[in-house]
Amino acid sequence: MSEARTGTPAGTTVSADQAEQQRRGLMLVLSSPSGAGKSTIARLLLEKEDNLELSISVTSRPRRSSEVDGVHYHFLDAGRFEQMRDHGELLEWAEVHGNYYATPRAPVENAIESGRDILFDIDIQGTFQLCEKMRSDVVSIFILPPSIAEMKSRLHRRAEDTEEVIAKRMKTAVEEMSLWGEYDYVVVNDDLERAFENVRAILRAERLKQFRSPKIGPLIQGMVEDLQKELGEE
Ligand code: ADP
Ligand code: 5GP
Repeated sequence: MSEARTGTPAGTTVSADQAEQQRRGLMLVLSSPSGAGKSTIARLLLEKEDNLELSISVTSRPRRSSEVDGVHYHFLDAGRFEQMRDHGELLEWAEVHGNYYATPRAPVENAIESGRDILFDIDIQGTFQLCEKMRSDVVSIFILPPSIAEMKSRLHRRAEDTEEVIAKRMKTAVEEMSLWGEYDYVVVNDDLERAFENVRAILRAERLKQFRSPKIGPLIQGMVEDLQKELGEE
């Protein structure tokens, strides 16, 4: 390379931060049969990952005493829910155990358009509706327990549910587990640290998918032109 060429201006430059900031956000959906560890992994992700926020659903279910309106859910009555649904304000909705649950459209669209990633704690019906509408934005991970015996013992150790509720959750798990093939990734949660790191690796790799960064195209083109100049190919 000649002296003169080494002294030329830098031309197009791009930093990793710039590439990150200019991308479209993604929608991360974690699903698992109850007791596999989905909530634990979701909590760790929200604590340790920047630029990731939780989608807060609306529901017509009564608020539990431990829940805060606007934090765990936006609680509303069935009439208001039906109004939102009929006005196209919901991205997906489902009726679970006689109550309505749904993802409001506007916060999700705002987040992903401004490059923020969003985490969902929704059921399988909701996951499939999101995939139908926004397939390329959705990254779905199925969290699998190492065995049914361990899943059952985690449900008992968690000590949140009665025997009857645990039996109901195990029954629902039959259908949930049979749909594992619909997910983009499967992560086995035997060792929590390892499962968490695997989920984190998926998130990091998915953030770098080229189609999430349409603005990088012109920058790469600028570099190609710099290179052509450098090679005297103008
Ligand atoms: P889910 O949200 O899938 O129903 P949770 O995250 O509530 O499950 O986990 C169920 C229980 O299992 C909790 O008490 C949690 O602390 C525990 N747990 C989660 N992951 C592991 C793991 N890898 N090893 C042992 N216990 C775990
Ligand atoms: P819970 O009443 O225990 O908070 O939630 C019951 C079920 O509804 C869980 O499986 C939960 O993942 C699901 N759920 C919560 N929010 C939504 C939502 O916005 N959409 C859908 N489809 N399911 C939801």
